[in-house]
Amino acid sequence: MLKAPELSDELKEFCSDFSTDVNNFRPSYWDAEENGDLQKYKKFVKDHYKVNQNYTCVYCRQRIVVENNSAWDLEHIVPKNLRPEWMLLGNNLCIACKDCNNHKSDKNTLVNKRLKKYPSNKDAFLIFHPHFDDYDTHINVVSEGEFYFPRTNKGLKTYDYCGLSRFFLKLADINSSADGYDFLMLKVVTEITETEDLNTRASLLSLLSGLFNKATKVNSMKQMENLIGS
Ligand SMILES: [Zn+2]
Repeated sequence: MLKAPELSDELKEFCSDFSTDVNNFRPSYWDAEENGDLQKYKKFVKDHYKVNQNYTCVYCRQRIVVENNSAWDLEHIVPKNLRPEWMLLGNNLCIACKDCNNHKSDKNTLVNKRLKKYPSNKDAFLIFHPHFDDYDTHINVVSEGEFYFPRTNKGLKTYDYCGLSRFFLKLADINSSADGYDFLMLKVVTEITETEDLNTRASLLSLLSGLFNKATKVNSMKQMENLIGS
């Protein structure tokens, strides 16, 4: 599990100054290029997580080893647009690949949106939280960068928020957003995760595996649509 970085006295002071002035609590604060202390803080935290996460995206687990700092996004687990007052909290930060971060965007990740204090309990979050949760408990990486499967409701929400169906759809050569297949995939995966009927589960799984074979993709998708009545 991830650990927040140990800050120098200078950076601690910067964070404490930030949190004592409510005027700072606006999302655009994060992008102030002219704020040297902020830039220093962001670089320090990003470097910390790059090493701590072994250059691996928290959500899709892809390892991307590049020196260029802009290849990675410093990711706010609770989006800074929703809770700007938490934007510098080490426990709310990690690094994510640009695709996962873009998919996740400003979606709410808190069970209770009105919480005053940043939670230290994994049950307070709707998605996998890299500081509190074990990834493999929630998501099965069947094949890295290709096929992911949620194991729990939290895993399912993470799969949905971060668009983890995108790899599989790309492999099957399907234009996900144009044809609505990302939505369809989510329905199928949800159905498989939630159904207790073993026969339904088996048919859905076999449809998914059929998709791996490009030649059968159209048929399989049609069958899938019929089966879940979309
Ligand atoms: Zn990713």
